[in-house]
Amino acid sequence: MSNDALRARYASVLERVAEAVAAAGRRPEEVRLVAVSKLHPAGDVAEVAAAGQVDFGENYVQEALEKRSLLQAQGLCGDVRWHMIGHVQSRKAGQVAGAFALIHTLDSVKLADALERHMPAGSVQPVLLEINVGDEPQKAGIPAAEASALAAHVQAHCPHLSLEGLMCLPPVFDAGEAARPYFARLRRLRDALREECGLPLPHLSMGMSGDFAAAIAEGATIVRIGTDIFGPRPPKK
Ligand SMILES: *Cc1c(COP(=O)(O)O)cnc(C)c1O
Repeated sequence: MSNDALRARYASVLERVAEAVAAAGRRPEEVRLVAVSKLHPAGDVAEVAAAGQVDFGENYVQEALEKRSLLQAQGLCGDVRWHMIGHVQSRKAGQVAGAFALIHTLDSVKLADALERHMPAGSVQPVLLEINVGDEPQKAGIPAAEASALAAHVQAHCPHLSLEGLMCLPPVFDAGEAARPYFARLRRLRDALREECGLPLPHLSMGMSGDFAAAIAEGATIVRIGTDIFGPRPPKK
């Protein structure tokens, strides 16, 4: 895609996010846009960063780290905050711990312990719990019923992880309003968990290209938008 086209798409997403925020009666600073750049080239990230975007999300550990070092070597994207939004295998915890502004996809005690073990002394890794909000057997994330046990484990045993909220991918894709009940469910779960564990849990990471307005209406504080900014993704090699 040409840089002009990319910038136009980005501007249009900013506008649509702002409209959804206003329609929900919320303030602009309550919702952060994460631009999901998985499978898109580093040059596209640099272009969108130059247009003012700060937060970028990646799904694959190797690709994320390679893209980042490529951009750093070119002196680009120094202020970018990188988000890990894909599944992280425990054996990759060493590459991930301390390397992302926010890990959205903590989904097991095993991964929590592995991240904790690899954290550099004196630093703290912000994390979200990924919830399988549609209780789909094949889907990543933990069942809602297990969220409080995992949160309690993190609180008790992982002093270098900071639990900041919940993330979900609804079972319906590109479905707009049809996804809304799942976003409402994540919000209610967050509210209950907040009571239970006494943490503020400020973040709800929910909403993608096809459903971000519904997510914002239900309280999303982070929306993760890829296709509407960068265009269709090339296939994963
Ligand atoms: C790819 C991806 C997105 C972005 O999806 P789009 O439909 O391209 O906006 C958001 N969240 C997660 C977890 C993803 O894997």
